[in-house]
Amino acid sequence: MEEHKLLYEGKAKKVYETEDPQQLIVSYKDDATAFNGLKKGTISGKGAINNQMTNLLMKRLEQIGVPTHLIRELSSRETLVKRVSIIPLEVIVRNLAAGSFSKRYGVVEGVVFDQPTLEFSYKNDALGDPLINSSHAIALKLATPEELDAIRRYSFAVNDFLKALWAECGVILVDFKLEFGRLADGTVVLADEISPDTCRLWDAKTHEKLDKDRFRRDLGGVEDAYQQVMRRLLEHG
Ligand code: UDP
Repeated sequence: MEEHKLLYEGKAKKVYETEDPQQLIVSYKDDATAFNGLKKGTISGKGAINNQMTNLLMKRLEQIGVPTHLIRELSSRETLVKRVSIIPLEVIVRNLAAGSFSKRYGVVEGVVFDQPTLEFSYKNDALGDPLINSSHAIALKLATPEELDAIRRYSFAVNDFLKALWAECGVILVDFKLEFGRLADGTVVLADEISPDTCRLWDAKTHEKLDKDRFRRDLGGVEDAYQQVMRRLLEHG
């Protein structure tokens, strides 16, 4: 990537400029962080898995009418994407109680919801990504009401599709985080990644965790879990 200018380096990805101002290269790292950067580590092979899983899933989502930033995979850990300005919201969809939901409301992990939930966090490291509602997001001019409608619609469509796809693989899609961006013409598209870093994935039979919670909670077998979900997706997805 020597020939490309580094535009941005995040916790798990680097973003490079290309000759085309509307296209960027995302390079996925093996670095892992949790708890707003307090816990740091490496998950060997994660960059390639997250890159390939994100691209496989985004390709499928495009086919069901969810627009994404994906252009094409360049290598095992690099992908060409459309340049977007990221809407600073973490959009979280949940099918079962886990993580911060369980903590906030005092619910044991694994309670199944009758309907999926949707929530937003304001992407702001200095504030610790606080929970935010849609009227606050509009007041802060993070997104327009129309953009929030599109984000809600796409997020539930992504959930319906991915829940069924993971079920085919013997995996429960517990919850996940999406990020959306605006193209130069204002179109809202799905951006960022969809991977075991951003989804909770449990084995359907044993409820074994096959995602970043293994890293967050020091459960061991992190690399194996990432490899296993990727393999299951390639075999059954
Ligand atoms: N998530 C994420 N990035 C974040 C926060 C959450 O990708 O900065 C994902 C997380 O992996 C999980 C879902 O969003 O699949 C819901 O996370 P939760 O709100 O329960 O927060 P956590 O317990 O991970 O702090």
